[in-house]
Amino acid sequence: MKNSAQPALKFPVYLDNHATTPLDPRVLDAMLPYFTSKFGNAASHSHQFGWETSAAVEKARSQIASLIGASPAEIVFTSGATESDNLAIKGTAEAHRQNGNHIITAATEHKAVLDSCRALERHGFKISCLPVNSDGFIDLNQLRNAITSETILVTIMAANNEIGVLQPVEEIAAICRERGVLFHSDAVQALGRIPFDVRKIGMDLASLTAHKCYGPKGVGALYVRSGVKPAPIIDGGGHERGMRSGTLNVPGIVGFGRACEIAQQELAEESIRIATLRDRLRDHLLAELDGLAINGSTERRLPGNLNISFSSVDGETLMTAVREMAVSSGSACSSDKVDHSHVLKSLGLSDEQAGSSLRFGIGRFNTEAEIEYVAARVVEAVKSLRELSHQAAV
Ligand SMILES: *Cc1c(COP(=O)(O)O)cnc(C)c1O
Repeated sequence: MKNSAQPALKFPVYLDNHATTPLDPRVLDAMLPYFTSKFGNAASHSHQFGWETSAAVEKARSQIASLIGASPAEIVFTSGATESDNLAIKGTAEAHRQNGNHIITAATEHKAVLDSCRALERHGFKISCLPVNSDGFIDLNQLRNAITSETILVTIMAANNEIGVLQPVEEIAAICRERGVLFHSDAVQALGRIPFDVRKIGMDLASLTAHKCYGPKGVGALYVRSGVKPAPIIDGGGHERGMRSGTLNVPGIVGFGRACEIAQQELAEESIRIATLRDRLRDHLLAELDGLAINGSTERRLPGNLNISFSSVDGETLMTAVREMAVSSGSACSSDKVDHSHVLKSLGLSDEQAGSSLRFGIGRFNTEAEIEYVAARVVEAVKSLRELSHQAAV
């Protein structure tokens, strides 16, 4: 009776919105003409084909800038946030080499940040990697103490992609400003999910990507505050004010712009709806199952994120048992060895606890019916897996 008016669920239910988000159909609509009739090179200044795509790129630049409180001239298009992180970190290191050789980051950063820092270490830079507490936060006093006269850059993410924890970026920015150090933030997971204003926060550089906010894959941006100029890591025709050469991905950029415009209009309502779904999933699981632990702060985190350790149940096994949902686990198997999440490990979790964790990432297109279904199936599967392992032990 109750469900008669509801459409049937489609499986698997997509709950991996921190890995990527589906393309919003409105974004696709905006992009389509730029795959067909509007194919001009945005750098062609001598004819209509270039003028129309150049105008479309500038519109998108404004839409993205508007969402983050920047001015359009401060947006540099890239191929995605991995490139933006590389440009921000390696580009700043090169441009400011004469001022010092020290960079500060944190243990829970994305690999694009950590590995960019590691690459610089091989070129003589010194990297300080701040630990986090069991909630996932860096300690601001530790940050203050880590800054030396050699420090040129602090890179700390706005929102974590595994545990959704929001670092105190305003406080970090204030410390950096006071000490005359540039502040870069990987803001991928914050974009479109929580209010995020670079000017209010006081950031110098921020990495963004389209495919985590219902835009297309392969296009991103680096916010570069006016007056800051990282050295390019891709040289060529001098596009993007010399910071990133290469013919612009016009359809992608148009889609990124439209995705930001939608986010700006809908973020306030959407984040409440998504947080409600997340809380529902969390409450259902906590009510029906013992021995669960939520990873990361429950106070300051992204609305759609739930990262849970299911004690004595392996995450990969649980995912296999509930094939009707698409989520991520806290450990990945690569050929012969298991790779436990460096984020969960840095919170102090054991290998076993990390291995028993799942990340649920709820997004724009998830429904209450999906959440109810998944919650019930996970409860059922955890109970039966625990029962099996109990029998095996007896
Ligand atoms: C997805 C992600 C990236 C990488 O972005 P791409 O556009 O896929 O290169 C970087 N940082 C964070 C926090 C992410 O979630």
